[in-house]
Amino acid sequence: MHKKLLITFDYELYLGNRSGTINDCMIDPTNQLIDVMGKHNIHAIFFVDTTYLLRLKEQAQTTTACRTDFETIASQLRNLVQKGHYVFPHIHPHWLDAQYLPEINQWRLNNIEKYRFHNVSEPDRSKVFDGSILLLQEILLPQFPNYKIDAYRAGGWGIQPFTDFLPFFKKHGIIHEFSVLGGIYQFTDAQLFDFSDAPEKSIYRFNEDVCKEDKNGPFIQYNISSIKISPFTTFLNKVWIKVLFKLFSEHTFHKGEGQPSRIVVGKSPASSKGSDLSNSVWERISVELLTSVKLNIYRSFWEKNEYMHFISHPKMITGHNLTVFNKFLNSAFEKYSVETDFYKMLPE
Ligand SMILES: [Zn+2]
Repeated sequence: MHKKLLITFDYELYLGNRSGTINDCMIDPTNQLIDVMGKHNIHAIFFVDTTYLLRLKEQAQTTTACRTDFETIASQLRNLVQKGHYVFPHIHPHWLDAQYLPEINQWRLNNIEKYRFHNVSEPDRSKVFDGSILLLQEILLPQFPNYKIDAYRAGGWGIQPFTDFLPFFKKHGIIHEFSVLGGIYQFTDAQLFDFSDAPEKSIYRFNEDVCKEDKNGPFIQYNISSIKISPFTTFLNKVWIKVLFKLFSEHTFHKGEGQPSRIVVGKSPASSKGSDLSNSVWERISVELLTSVKLNIYRSFWEKNEYMHFISHPKMITGHNLTVFNKFLNSAFEKYSVETDFYKMLPE
């Protein structure tokens, strides 16, 4: 039997008070992932926080540490492409207001006014979107002249309204879109999205609305998978994570600080079928959420479905996550013929 497995990563620093370092959040965990995925010949996708890279490159003009960081990242991105993975842009516009902290070579992003692309002015939209494409081209094209930048994932699932992005997709020939977490919504002062009425399909075409299928639409959506985790499993998982921390001091909390956000009250989703990401039994399928407590739940999802789309963050992945992910891949590839290259997956 033939199945589709999409392994995707948001390659980025922490987006709150303290960003963390590139080695902790990007370089080291990504190198470990490259090893695990190499064993299974996976074509993964890395959505690179290009808005960070734009600021980093700017700061590199006057700061040696930033120049080194930029070169280290650029070289890892080329290595990823060399190994058959894909590298595409991932935009967090509030990097525009980020502050560089020279004493620790990290960043502070505590202004979330521009968290959503929707709240960004026209010139700034162009600065971050056009700038992102240009920057990736600069990094990749000299070594890979035929490499196409034709896919995208929005920061914080913020792809709505899609009409904000439409001119940029058209201008740059972007066709493949990876931001929809079907059936889920979240309303906070940072992340605001509503995919409660997205088509219940793995891959579909759309035009001006990411949640409306249009069989003749120019764009293709790759729905991110979510999985039901019971409150009891969530409880067991918390205990297990504490045990792991006691035994191996294994946790990612020291690496950096994420974005605090507050729930926006009084908003309701477009469909009653939807579940709130902030408080429901549904969670994204993700390497950093995969522990041995959940391994059998992930395996049974894979048994029952022909499509599984992981969304993960190197910055949040622990050694335990990697070990369990490797176990999952071992069993996933043993039983089925598996396609991991999204270019070879067709809309339903
Ligand atoms: Zn992100």
